Amino acid sequence: MSVRIVLMGPPGAGKGTQAVRLASRFAVPTISTGDIFRANVKNSTTLGKQVVECIDKGLLVPDQLTNAVVADRLAQPDAASGFVLDGYPRNPDQVAALDQFLADRDVELDVVIEIVVEAEEVTQRMLRRAQVEGRTDDTAETIAERLAVYTAQTEPLAEIYVNRGILAQVDGLAEIDEVTERLVAAVDPFVGG
Ligand code: AMP
Repeated sequence: MSVRIVLMGPPGAGKGTQAVRLASRFAVPTISTGDIFRANVKNSTTLGKQVVECIDKGLLVPDQLTNAVVADRLAQPDAASGFVLDGYPRNPDQVAALDQFLADRDVELDVVIEIVVEAEEVTQRMLRRAQVEGRTDDTAETIAERLAVYTAQTEPLAEIYVNRGILAQVDGLAEIDEVTERLVAAVDPFVGG
């Protein structure tokens, strides 16, 4: 069985954690653009040097770079039978790039899930996470910018996927295990499970 899932939601909604759990349920890889970029920053690669400033400001990395990174990753053999995309697409240009990539291979997304958590809650979560993980973009100022970018550029994508009949919304305000079960339950109808 193949399953192609996009996980949307504001920063701090728990996308990263849940993407890994969902991917293991459906036996597909997690593809997280944020993780890929952070690994490149850590290793000081050419890509890392190109993206570090955007990440630290809370701005989107340019589409040209992001789309190329994702196409490269999706083309790897383990993603042929499916994936959970965490943090991509984030604007209309990225939606178009993903559509093209999938259309070229004659496949489609099964479901886009939006994890819904209000801004005040995600802000508190990210401030707590800052003390544990030490992410350079979990500062009060960058958190505010990332939320603004999400509201302006990414949240509107939900409508595109509603119109395609593949959007599911999940309330992300619950214990981690409970949210995972909600996500699995939301995916099932779209994958014939
Ligand atoms: P995340 O871990 O998903 O919150 O991503 C951390 C940062 O990486 C974001 O604030 C952006 O600077 C960058 N980033 C991650 N995914 C994307 C994307 N799809 N498009 C542009 N920038 C991204």
